[in-house]
Amino acid sequence: MPYSMKPLLMFDFDGTLVDTGPDIVSAVNEFLAIKKLPALPHATVLKFIGRGLADLLAGIVPEAQRQAQDQKAIEREFLEVYDRHVLNSPRPLADAADFLRHCPYKIAIVSNKRQQFIPKILAHLGLLDLPWVAMIGGDSLAHKKPHPEPMRTAMLKAGVDASHAWMVGDGFPDVEGAAACGIPCVAVEFGYVPAEELIARGAQYRIRYFAELHTIIKPK
Ligand SMILES: [Mg+2]
Repeated sequence: MPYSMKPLLMFDFDGTLVDTGPDIVSAVNEFLAIKKLPALPHATVLKFIGRGLADLLAGIVPEAQRQAQDQKAIEREFLEVYDRHVLNSPRPLADAADFLRHCPYKIAIVSNKRQQFIPKILAHLGLLDLPWVAMIGGDSLAHKKPHPEPMRTAMLKAGVDASHAWMVGDGFPDVEGAAACGIPCVAVEFGYVPAEELIARGAQYRIRYFAELHTIIKPK
């Protein structure tokens, strides 16, 4: 296939494009206070970001308390709290804003975050009106990362095949989802999981800032 096909970059959201950690931590601790549970340290909460809401709640709410209440009700309750914190302090990571605004490639978001929050945060940061080919959240499709469905859906929407797609992320679902799609994963060094761990799990590249992607995006 000729390289005239414009490559697609798929980005994870939390800890990759945007530092949402502080707002998630404050939402988690307000939620735990409502539940009369002790607050958790920042680093503990960050470990649970990236695999979606159910896994986050499984990490922060003790099993007995989760059994005592309907899972969907707990999720709704947490989402209400997070909605009050979501725009407190999100900020683009590294050179994300500048890179995205001048990006010569097709761009998409493939996140495990609830979809509703993604455009809300992007609008707040002045990054919503970019030519996103897809903005997929953890509840957009039947499966979330590391299942290949979300990345495959973004590739289909962009009209590119695996030879023209890259995943950029800071979590194991990013590395594993990319592997399931047969595409490379670029680990960011400023996310919530150390890049060494992502490389050990199979990420092919690591970057300190997004502009480094220009040296990585080549015909495969
Ligand atoms: Mg992430």
